[in-house]
Amino acid sequence: MSATASSTAQAAASAPVSVLGLGMMGTALAGAFLNAGHPVTVWNRSPARTGPLVAQGALPADTPVAGVAASPLVVLCLLTNDNVDELFTVLGDSVAGKTLVNLTNGTPEQARTLSARAESVGARYVDGGIMAVPQMIAGPDAYVFYSGDEQAYETHRATLAALGGTRWTGADPGLAALYDLGLLTGMYGMFIGVVQALALVRTEKIGAEEYAELLVPWVTAMLGGVPEIARAVDSGQHLTDVSSLAVNQSAFPNFVATYKAQGVSPELFEPFQVLLDRSIAEGHAADGLSRLAEMLAR
Ligand code: NDP
Repeated sequence: MSATASSTAQAAASAPVSVLGLGMMGTALAGAFLNAGHPVTVWNRSPARTGPLVAQGALPADTPVAGVAASPLVVLCLLTNDNVDELFTVLGDSVAGKTLVNLTNGTPEQARTLSARAESVGARYVDGGIMAVPQMIAGPDAYVFYSGDEQAYETHRATLAALGGTRWTGADPGLAALYDLGLLTGMYGMFIGVVQALALVRTEKIGAEEYAELLVPWVTAMLGGVPEIARAVDSGQHLTDVSSLAVNQSAFPNFVATYKAQGVSPELFEPFQVLLDRSIAEGHAADGLSRLAEMLAR
């Protein structure tokens, strides 16, 4: 490390941070700041949750206002943004001059509303989407999307890096939540398929663990097709010679019929049949699955 980089890292490590909200995630965030050498002040609605962090060297704040007063950088991690909105009411203008980094999961619209609210009382607002579970925080695969006040983000970026990678998405405060929800959409799509597949095979007493040995490499191999779909979405050129919507639409009734025949609910997959039927009705038979992204965006 160069002398300049080393002194920047030391300056960042001495920067105080307050963490409001010590659930599973907030506790992991505060722990990561402590491990990186930051003076950390913590507040939680139920005070008992501060105990383990105080034992590691954190300072407990009796009230959220006291928590905010302790540091220029205040990280919030509550269950919902409605909770954050309520907390803003309690905090009032005590946040003036502070940077609020809200890592609570929420919608882009909520992030924009909270940003405007924070700025109206003189605070700087950065929204964030955490791409990790608590156990991954500060590890090599964890990162956080950020958006909002870029100057505030740059000022505190070295401190925020204690949590994992930092990925800036833009000045619109809603962007981090959009990136976050987009990735989680891909994840839930995969898990919806996984639970449906396991529900199906267990009707014939095929062990889920045994089947997972087939499922994981199959799904992994199919993910290799994502860049091609993405290229088609960007270019608007949806014609395909691989797997047309016509072929998919013809095969799909077999899925729904099999679920029903085997006594498995088709509720997760029936809407996809409706979308495939519509794609054919609207004249997209020769296109690939990428066309559906355009249809859904209407
Ligand atoms: P927990 O349920 O463990 O903790 C929730 C936290 O919110 C607690 O500190 C709780 O306080 C606080 N809280 C709830 N309601 C209020 C309120 N009305 N006023 C003040 N504080 C309140 O959740 P997590 O820590 O796991 O999650 C926190 C956020 O992080 C969520 O938005 C979640 O979606 C997000 N996240 C979580 C991940 C995970 O894997 N856990 C992964 C990525 C993001 P109290 O202790 O008093 O109940």
